[in-house]
Amino acid sequence: MTVKVGIIGGSGIADAGFFNEVGRKSIETPYGKPSGEYILGEVGGAGKAEVIFLPRHGPGHKTPPHKINYRANIWGFKELGVDKLICPSAVGSLREDYRPGEICLADQFIDWTRGRELTFYDGPEVVHVSVADPYCESLRKMLAGICEEQNIPHHPTGTMVVIAGPRFSTRAESKMFRNYADIIGMTGVPEAQLARELGICYANLSMITDYDVWAEKPVNVSEVIRTMKENAGKIQTIIEAAIGRLADVECKECRAHLDEAGF
Ligand SMILES: [Zn+2]
Repeated sequence: MTVKVGIIGGSGIADAGFFNEVGRKSIETPYGKPSGEYILGEVGGAGKAEVIFLPRHGPGHKTPPHKINYRANIWGFKELGVDKLICPSAVGSLREDYRPGEICLADQFIDWTRGRELTFYDGPEVVHVSVADPYCESLRKMLAGICEEQNIPHHPTGTMVVIAGPRFSTRAESKMFRNYADIIGMTGVPEAQLARELGICYANLSMITDYDVWAEKPVNVSEVIRTMKENAGKIQTIIEAAIGRLADVECKECRAHLDEAGF
């Protein structure tokens, strides 16, 4: 059986050279256009592993977090037959001990976004899917195991608060979020819950790029980009190792949530 995995992330992953590009696909979905073309790749020769990459912010990173068509992006992966997604993202830290340059594998999120299309179930079919545990446990544990083996500084769990963006938090917001969450990002919602609604296993792979403004240090985009560039190799190493192990990951839970929802 061919292993197939979807990756939603920055263009650094597509350029990393660990998969051979074999084609590109444009998909028109019932929810409109995804962020860009899906890049189809192979790892380890034909038939070994299929990698399907989508640049979350589109080609040239031109779509801001609040304008991303999350529904189209996830729907497109479903159409391509993807049932596992590994999704790198850049996040700020809300805790002293979650340091820039480290990896966090979120296991919970808090939705602080607004104005986003959050579901595939807009009626007439009314479906309530459980996201008590919004991420795929099997994938998260596999990624944590890889970080452990590769001596990559990481946090195997973490709560991510997702804000609307594109602005960063105020100091008051940041201090409030610190009471409830470990990291802060702009794209985790509704990406994870949409994957859950389609029964796709979804893992977050966060790169901590900076301390959020609670730390009384100014956050600026150049610092975020510099940290991302310096640490991009860690994300590539983890994903490359993960592809080799996907065949061993068996998960029935993510799909079972749909059955529980009566779908
Ligand atoms: Zn799963």
